[in-house]
Amino acid sequence: MTPKPMLSTTCPYCGVGCGVRAPAGGGAAVQGDQQHPANHGKLCVKGSSLHETLVPEGRLLYPQVRGQRVTWDSAIGQVAGAIREAVATHGPGSVAFYLSGQMLTEDYYVANKLAKGFIGTPHVDTNSRLCMSSAVAAHKRAFGEDVVPGCYEDLELADLLVLTGSNTAWNHPILYQRMKAANRAGRKVVVIDPRATATTELADLHLKLRPGTDSLLFNGLLVWLADQQAVDHAYLAAHCDGFEDALALARSHAPSLAQVAAACDLAVADLRRFYEWFAATPRTVTLFSQGINQSVAGTDKGNAIINCHLATGRVGKPGASPFSITGQPNAMGGREVGGLANTLAAHRDYEDPADRALVADFWGVPQVAEGPGYKAVDLFEAVHRGDIKVLWIIATNPAVSLPDSARVREALARCPTVIVSDCSVQSDTVQQADILLPAAGWGEKDGTVTNSERRVSRQRAFLPLPAEVRPDWWALAHVGQALGYGAAFTYDGPAAIFREHARLSACNSGTHRCFDLSGLQGLSDDEYHDLGPVQWPVTRQAPAGTTRLFGDGRFATLSGRARLVPVAWIPPQQQPDAQWPLVVNSGRVRDQWHTMTRTGSAPRLLQHRSEPFIEVHPADAAPRGLEAGALATLQREGQSYTGRVIVTDQQRPGEVFVPIHWNGQFASAGLASSLMGPVTDPVSGQPESKHGIASLQGFPARWHARLLQRREAPRRWQAGYWTRVPLQHCDSWWLADTDRKDWAAVLTDWLGGEPTLMMADPAQQRFRAARLLNGRLQAVVMVETDAALLPDTDWLDECFAEPRLSSAQRRMLLAGRRADQPDVGAMVCSCFQVGEKQIQQAIAEGACSVDALGEQLRCGTNCGSCLPEIKGLLLSARSVA
Ligand code: SF4
Repeated sequence: MTPKPMLSTTCPYCGVGCGVRAPAGGGAAVQGDQQHPANHGKLCVKGSSLHETLVPEGRLLYPQVRGQRVTWDSAIGQVAGAIREAVATHGPGSVAFYLSGQMLTEDYYVANKLAKGFIGTPHVDTNSRLCMSSAVAAHKRAFGEDVVPGCYEDLELADLLVLTGSNTAWNHPILYQRMKAANRAGRKVVVIDPRATATTELADLHLKLRPGTDSLLFNGLLVWLADQQAVDHAYLAAHCDGFEDALALARSHAPSLAQVAAACDLAVADLRRFYEWFAATPRTVTLFSQGINQSVAGTDKGNAIINCHLATGRVGKPGASPFSITGQPNAMGGREVGGLANTLAAHRDYEDPADRALVADFWGVPQVAEGPGYKAVDLFEAVHRGDIKVLWIIATNPAVSLPDSARVREALARCPTVIVSDCSVQSDTVQQADILLPAAGWGEKDGTVTNSERRVSRQRAFLPLPAEVRPDWWALAHVGQALGYGAAFTYDGPAAIFREHARLSACNSGTHRCFDLSGLQGLSDDEYHDLGPVQWPVTRQAPAGTTRLFGDGRFATLSGRARLVPVAWIPPQQQPDAQWPLVVNSGRVRDQWHTMTRTGSAPRLLQHRSEPFIEVHPADAAPRGLEAGALATLQREGQSYTGRVIVTDQQRPGEVFVPIHWNGQFASAGLASSLMGPVTDPVSGQPESKHGIASLQGFPARWHARLLQRREAPRRWQAGYWTRVPLQHCDSWWLADTDRKDWAAVLTDWLGGEPTLMMADPAQQRFRAARLLNGRLQAVVMVETDAALLPDTDWLDECFAEPRLSSAQRRMLLAGRRADQPDVGAMVCSCFQVGEKQIQQAIAEGACSVDALGEQLRCGTNCGSCLPEIKGLLLSARSVA
């Protein structure tokens, strides 16, 4: 058979923005794009599983209004009608948009133009607020513009890599692999993180600091640099303002090495070593992400880092720069078009009347809405108050991702008209929509994204649009036309939108601003289709793009000078106390993405971590009687989170870690955001997601069950704890509760009818039952009083694909274990399906290195995301020996 032609596109997950080759029409595996400068052909396990997520299950396929299927004409009419009525009765500020870093730049551009330019509301914010808005604010304060000065190559050229607030190995795996591969003799890596993570495997020095003390640590570094005569005074004099003020405030908070070390809970010698390395290494890159940004002091933390780079003249030079890496694939593209409530298109300042007039003039409107609008947390507070009458949410799931998620759900329930554009029905936010618009998903939509190194890449459609599915720009433009703004919204495709966006950016040509795509404003449709990855600014003078910025010491301020910002140390607002004694940190796991609407449909990606969990230090687990594998509950102000306990000294005592992904579609109580109060950074408005507080206690389950069931509409079980794990041919559920049950009735309910096969030991509360219909397996359930006694039943998945079970299969059904297949343990290598027990066995039999394991089992030889875990298994085997 002739292989299908492959198209180049871009991965829709993290901010690395890897190039992907995908088969036209789908139906085959994706590959890494060898030509893409971000990844040179490599993909992590999420990227290489992308084709597995292109499944019809859970797909939103037609417009709906209050649960009724309608035509697009009707849906557009009702959206426009709701907006028109809200504006007429309550003013334009009663309409709001909540957008997403998943959107393409073209979709984002049209949304902002419609909202800020034509409807006249400034209330347009995005989930990027939760990701990197603190870095945006820090960049603007220091450089005058939201600009990442460096590029990925700098991470390879650096002699000192400082990774702070970033589990790069799991969250930006391909960049991590690049850093790892670039190892040279003498290169040093410092990881600054309260947790030991997969990333610390790369560290020459791990500073396991007290959470929230990052700005103190970098203030201390600034003082150290000054005291050790390691400051570049000539650079400061020529290119920067504010050094003396920044140093004076830093000194007042961080007067001595010993005091900084004590406040950060670090050994003086470790801190001194970091400071010495930084002082002595001109080629230093400090990479920072959510661990810095998602904080009440995220902007200050960003500026404390940048201050140290400005003080040493290390900005925008090969191998020397501060480097903010974004979580989302198009966080930066959204910023270019003014997707944040406090920004305007083309990096223009929302507060500046001249900038507003310039954009209004370009769009042909008398004026744009006066900003800034509500930032995410305040926006949903305004919805809760009743100030917002129409809320249009596009490609995001705020009912899960925003802090204090219970209040966000209340706000959505109170809002008269909630419009949700999405491609999946399996989202907690979709459940609360009045109007649902079926949006094109990855592989169907066409446009551009910008990654963390300012590189604009094409996402190309390689699949046909399902019959009633439409791209977001199309829905937004049609609503614009229905509202009477026709001429401004008559785009015939994303190329036309991109040209307009690039033309608007040309207003920055020749000014102090950097963002400029003027070199692309004249692209024909064909040229747009063929556009290769390119870093902005792209101008007539730099048609191939620009690798680095500010290397010459000229910044994007009117004076051309950068600013060092005085940073006071602000401790986290929520401090543990007797009632809520633990600090809660939250973050991502290796194989999942955000609220699992896409990755949750790829069974392979759920094998690494299939349930919500709580990582807890042994010193906190022991007094609570918590053992590894038990269930436990975190509680805070009426909210609770239940997950499987992982006891690990990778945590600091007094602190726990929970993943952000699980939600009402996948677990009974797995919402990490419910444990976070709605506290935000005063400058950026970014919510705190790294420092909640909670109590912790065991979940005293009387019984545990494993239920495999033919896939049907997701169901919420009457059990204190449940988790859904989609497998290839069925759904697998973990269930547990503290109550006694009438098991005969419960098993019949769970199986969907009377059991066909049954083994029962009521005295021991042990049950195994299965139901078949005409020989075809419908459901299997196993109940035990101890979760450890439940066999690994995932192999039963294949039985659901059989039209009729053989007698051998029927015999194995209730035994739970398959006679011919060993239990491989928790999945470590998702690419080659290699489990923990297999690796331990191979180590015991003499495979004593990563290479030997790779040769024997293939683990770690594809994307490499699991290499830190494989090394961990090797290390623990050695320490036991
Ligand atoms: Fe996608 Fe992985 Fe690349 Fe991120 S590192 S863009 S998730 S392939």
